[in-house]
Amino acid sequence: MTYGDAEFGFELLACRWAELAWPPEERRDSAVVVSRQLGTQKRRWDTVVVEADPEALAARRQFGTDALDSDLLHVVRNAPTEWAWYRDALPHPGYPWRYVLAAVHRAAARGVVEKRKNGNKVEIRRVAPYPDWVERIVAVEHKPDLDASAARALSDQLAHDVETALADEVWVATTATEDSVEPALLESMPVEVGILTLDFAEGVHADVGDVAWYPSSLDPTTGGERFEADEKAEKRLAIAERAYGKGWRSFHDTMRPDCRHFELRREGHALVPWCAAKERGQTAAECSGSCPEFSPEPPQWRTKGWPIEGGPGKGIKQLLERRRKWVRERDVE
Ligand code: SF4
Repeated sequence: MTYGDAEFGFELLACRWAELAWPPEERRDSAVVVSRQLGTQKRRWDTVVVEADPEALAARRQFGTDALDSDLLHVVRNAPTEWAWYRDALPHPGYPWRYVLAAVHRAAARGVVEKRKNGNKVEIRRVAPYPDWVERIVAVEHKPDLDASAARALSDQLAHDVETALADEVWVATTATEDSVEPALLESMPVEVGILTLDFAEGVHADVGDVAWYPSSLDPTTGGERFEADEKAEKRLAIAERAYGKGWRSFHDTMRPDCRHFELRREGHALVPWCAAKERGQTAAECSGSCPEFSPEPPQWRTKGWPIEGGPGKGIKQLLERRRKWVRERDVE
């Protein structure tokens, strides 16, 4: 197996599998948006699967392909159908109006709201109603080598996820082995957390996931010790928006596809990074300008259109970007 052992490789393969086959062992009724390394300041999940209403997700496209952050969401979701002074139209957000005005300008520059001057007042109008596209948010923690001690180490974090109930469901994904998941291992984890086994020995295919333990649905609509119900709803939408904007293929933004050793390898239905110098799947952290084997792609590799479109590095970025766009649109058509 070339991938699936290291956490980063496993994470990418698991994201691709979720894109193909979520929810595990069930028929897909929702559209899915998959992203990685998202959450709150205190808790970051390896994979986030947003289950979305297909029509509402299609309507979300009117606001572009980038995420709307919480300040932009405040403007977009409350913008009126008719022109109105932004201070009349928007609820007071609990912070100074000048920040709201800055968000209004940003929203208008992005084309997600209309803006005009009326005397010395800035008026706004919505471009479309912001759709209610998020149905459920699923958090997946990865532990390719899940043994009893790894399960114990994870249990506090998972108990926190269950208690906070920011996601509707929490799972641990691990590598499928010959043995079934040990009862001792199940005992170390909160009973509400699902366990998913993934077998990437032959790469990513829709049928490589098995449920070893089904999770319980959590209730994200009620407030708790950490978040009030309203605050939680806002955080959930902000997470879903980040997932929408980021997807899971954005690793090329931080890795070095412009290195001559950087390749994309096919693992079943997945394309994942491969380092020809190290002869293995490289991690995102080591694939940087400070990598001792980093070597810029030679200029003669650059194809026509250089420097705007050319070069293998650019080609990889464009390929991943095209795939991200294609998947984003696939489930809503
Ligand atoms: S040599 Fe280093 S920078 Fe180049 S692809 Fe491999 S890990 Fe990335």
